[in-house]
Amino acid sequence: MRGAYGGPRVLLRRLREVMAEPVSAQERLDRIVVLIAANMVAEVCSVYVLRVDGDLELYATEGLNREAVHRTTMHKGEGLVGLVADEAEPVNLSDAQAHPAFSYKPETGEEVYHSFLGVPILRSGNTLGVLVVQNKSQRKYSDEEIEALQTTAMVIAEMIASGELAGQEGGFEPVGRRPAHARGVALSEGIGLGHVVLHEPRVVVKNFIAEDSAAELARLDKALANLRASIDVLIDEGEVARAGEHRDVLEAFRMFANDRGWGRRLHEAVLTGLTAEAAVERVQSDTRARMQRQTDPYLRERLHDLDDLANRLLRELTSPGKGMAPQTTHLPDNAIIVARSMGPAALLDYDRSRLRGLVLEEGSPSSHVAIVARALGIAAVGQVENAAGLVESGDAVIVDGVSGEVHARPTADVERAYADKVRFRARRQEQYRALRDRPSITRDGETVSLMLNAGLLVDLPHIAETGAAGVGLFRTELQFMVASSMPRTAAQQQLYRAVLDAADGKPVTFRTLDVGGDKILPYMRNEPEENPALGWRAIRLGLDRPALLRTQIRALLYAAAGRDLKLMFPMVASISEFDEAREIVEREHARLARHGHPLPSSLQLGVMVEVPSLLFQLDELLQRVDFISVGSNDLMQFLFAVDRGNARVSGRFDPLSPAFLRTLAFVAAKAKAAGKPVTLCGEIGARPLEAMALIGIGYRSLSMSPAAIGPVKAALLEVDAHEVSAFMAPLIARTDGGRTLRPELRDFAAARGLQVEP
Ligand code: PEP
Ligand code: MG
Repeated sequence: MRGAYGGPRVLLRRLREVMAEPVSAQERLDRIVVLIAANMVAEVCSVYVLRVDGDLELYATEGLNREAVHRTTMHKGEGLVGLVADEAEPVNLSDAQAHPAFSYKPETGEEVYHSFLGVPILRSGNTLGVLVVQNKSQRKYSDEEIEALQTTAMVIAEMIASGELAGQEGGFEPVGRRPAHARGVALSEGIGLGHVVLHEPRVVVKNFIAEDSAAELARLDKALANLRASIDVLIDEGEVARAGEHRDVLEAFRMFANDRGWGRRLHEAVLTGLTAEAAVERVQSDTRARMQRQTDPYLRERLHDLDDLANRLLRELTSPGKGMAPQTTHLPDNAIIVARSMGPAALLDYDRSRLRGLVLEEGSPSSHVAIVARALGIAAVGQVENAAGLVESGDAVIVDGVSGEVHARPTADVERAYADKVRFRARRQEQYRALRDRPSITRDGETVSLMLNAGLLVDLPHIAETGAAGVGLFRTELQFMVASSMPRTAAQQQLYRAVLDAADGKPVTFRTLDVGGDKILPYMRNEPEENPALGWRAIRLGLDRPALLRTQIRALLYAAAGRDLKLMFPMVASISEFDEAREIVEREHARLARHGHPLPSSLQLGVMVEVPSLLFQLDELLQRVDFISVGSNDLMQFLFAVDRGNARVSGRFDPLSPAFLRTLAFVAAKAKAAGKPVTLCGEIGARPLEAMALIGIGYRSLSMSPAAIGPVKAALLEVDAHEVSAFMAPLIARTDGGRTLRPELRDFAAARGLQVEP
């Protein structure tokens, strides 16, 4: 029996011929099973495809009753075929009927077969079906035969994934192309409909079978050498930020790329007759199938690294030199970028006019890439498990940045529902745009100035588009965070000047560098800290390393020559910190004056109120500063001791709680008494219900993300500020331990027909 076996090379050669024949996919599959049966001298060869409903359907057979094709199905987990699908591992038995999983299907006439070899049809580690051979005699299939069958399974996997086999007679759409739904965390509001662009696209291997194995080995070795060299260059040049990666990820790459076991497995796969690309795919698919069943999060994380690395090796093989560079040009019109993780600079590399959305496997709402996504106004969802494995380049996909959902290959119903939503949102936007030039005055005549939070060049057009009263918070650190090296004074100046130009005389409040904590500059080496949020950050860093702060202040003073300059300092915790910072500004100002440089026409200095210690120094502080700005994000974080970046706790307490509202009311009252302007620039001001409450406790200036201006303005035009104040005063004073006033505020708004839910 063994002597008659043609060997894997003969099988693979024949397979290549069959793949080149101009026949339908079903016919090709029929020919493949005949070919395998003949080559392996097996009485039976069958292909089962996993369907949307989870069943395995017989798609082709040689040897079993052909009438059973598209009629026989097994549940996943049922019988030996189900076992192979479940375990994603080959099953090789000489006495199949003795196996406890054996299940008899009378319509196939299987009872006479003793030996069974089944291999999973895998793609990207996902099981798409099962390929089986059977013999009447009791025999054990050789390793070589298993290999050959696995290679054939790769070819069939490609046929399934390409959709060629979909809609066969009696068949269902196989699992590889079915609609998929995933839930993550909303990072940037909006709804994006479009087509997938994989940030690090998986290279689709089409050519599996080698013509010349020695040549394939040489190609593999060359690509491996290039890959290793490109990783070394990235690490050595410190280009970590530009690649959007962190050093430890690259170090992991370097380790895996040099791993002998990986290299050996790739070589062995080529020696079975595969092309170099197919060998990479095979080794990775096996690894993935093995590791996906791991529950250890560390190992699963390593799988991501290995996936990335395999993909980069494939890119080296298909387009040498491109191993580490994502494709950012030639985007489709409605591009939805899908990535495992991404740095903010990488997102900015894409052509903004074609971007509609972003889906990440990682990413929290306060991550830098989320900040950039919001600035670009594209829908984004993060923490979507296996997002990049769920889709193929070009797949239709919907990103719901409101609910945090992602629909891949959506059904027509879902697509229609979302198209309606998008139309509805567009109408709303139209209404908001119509309000742009309406003064933002409450029904009872109180002016509430609505300002923008900004930080990047891409934010600037929003000043005119939204009709904002100015920029209430310009986060200067964003320029530093998206750069690959420390921005020079000239670049800083240029940005600040552009901001003032875009504001066109409207006030702009620049905040000095707020780095440290979660705002990390990849090119600045910092000591690791146990509690970075409470660590060496923002003004602390600025005062301890005054050169950095001085350079920035100088750039701001230069940029604002002949115009008004408003400057504020982040994370100030004591009056003396403000005094020291002011001294630096005054010294720089005096220096410029001494050298005859043109100066800002006015200079106002302020402080962010975001560390609770300041609450008890407000009287003294307000005498010294020109204005204050409440950073409710950090104030909430520090007052309630909840990490704003930790999804597990960040929503635990409601900013609309009496405790927090009392704190905010206290700050507003102090500022009013001192006759100093106060703005609130944290996220809570961006939500209409919260904005209404803030108006009720005395705020008349709110600064928010561009998309929030319209909804907040629409609500405040309908609000009677005095009525809200009167309604809220007793609620805030309440001492019954209520956790939140949200329901009461909602009822209040609903009774007056206020549009306060976005
Ligand atoms: C805040 O803390 O509320 C704030 C506006 O600043 P950031 O979000 O940049 O820390
Ligand atoms: Mg802050």
